[in-house]
Amino acid sequence: MCTCLLTTAIVIQQILKTVNLKKDVKHCWPAAVAWEPGKPLVIEQVEVAPPQAMEVRLKILFTSLCHTDVYFWEAKGQTPLFPRIFGHEAGGIVESVGEGVTDLKPGDHVLPVFTGECKECRHCKSEESNMCDLLRINTDRGVMLNDGKSRFSIKGQPIYHFVGTSTFSEYTVVHVGCVAKINPAASLDKVCVLSCGISTGLGATLNVAKPKKGSTVAIFGLGAVGLAAAEGARIAGASRIIGVDLNPKRFDEAKKFGVTEFVNPKDYDKPVQEVIAEMTDGGVDRSVECTGNINAMISAFECVHDGWGVAVLVGVPNKDDAFKTHPMNLLNERTLKGTFFGNYKPRSDLPSVVEKYMNKELEVEKFITHEVPFSEINKAFEYMLQGDGLRCVIRMDA
Ligand SMILES: [Zn+2]
Ligand SMILES: [Zn+2]
Repeated sequence: MCTCLLTTAIVIQQILKTVNLKKDVKHCWPAAVAWEPGKPLVIEQVEVAPPQAMEVRLKILFTSLCHTDVYFWEAKGQTPLFPRIFGHEAGGIVESVGEGVTDLKPGDHVLPVFTGECKECRHCKSEESNMCDLLRINTDRGVMLNDGKSRFSIKGQPIYHFVGTSTFSEYTVVHVGCVAKINPAASLDKVCVLSCGISTGLGATLNVAKPKKGSTVAIFGLGAVGLAAAEGARIAGASRIIGVDLNPKRFDEAKKFGVTEFVNPKDYDKPVQEVIAEMTDGGVDRSVECTGNINAMISAFECVHDGWGVAVLVGVPNKDDAFKTHPMNLLNERTLKGTFFGNYKPRSDLPSVVEKYMNKELEVEKFITHEVPFSEINKAFEYMLQGDGLRCVIRMDA
């Protein structure tokens, strides 16, 4: 056989392989399955069914661990849904597309997102909202919308999805409305962290708090989301960024994110809002609350300056919490706002966040403090449970 024929034969073989892959319903790939709450994940060979109408199958290349995965894996506060494949911060490539998918094709670089954008509902059509009626986050649903079934199974036993993404799997099936197509030149091992926490904090500041250049911003909670909010304040040109946290170990790290001053509420015997008001001649211009603690939320609101101050709530409170403040605080022209996913519409807006990284405006690398191969995914859980670092990126091919 001459060389060119051999090459042709190899190419044909490769094409056939691709075609077979798409049609082969029984194809298995490694996925990290959570069989029980709080128990280490187990890497299993999982069948991943082909995408149905308006779905895409993605090859996940990098994924990272977020607090929300750990919260639902521990399943202390909600109805447990197991066995389940967790994971919602990731970067990957489209492998195949289902019927009706027109704006994605195999090979596209994408970020899957835990909340979607159908582009048809009232929320999607509103410039002000990103809370899609059809694809808004649903932590209780473990199946696909199309047929109410899972695309994952092991020897016929269904394995539940998580927030429509389930990225702790080499292949996953996602609704097309939960997939942001991004610049293929962006390194997926870096921008994978933009799928959730980092964009949430960044958007809370840039899209909702909107600090002016030279303003003073307080950030409550210096975990990954809070530091992303600080990064937003740095990008917006804030002159003072005051970090508030109960853990003094976080202060050193926070300096890298533009935080200029630190307040540990434990160091004072008066409310932290009074401490901040004294530091800033009456209050900060903007505050962003990223802890979910109800008292921190109230402090974050009461520490903004009257006349113009805006406080933005990001953290998720406990079920029975109630926000208590004197109405005069609002009448004195303070504004209280809340945000979900930093007000970003996943498909329309995430590509521009990736561009902010590409043009070096947004620094993503400093959020990535650990990296582990997929086979050691449980280490990522250990780091997070120990409060060690910010984001651990998991390499699927290793
Ligand atoms: Zn919608
Ligand atoms: Zn998350």
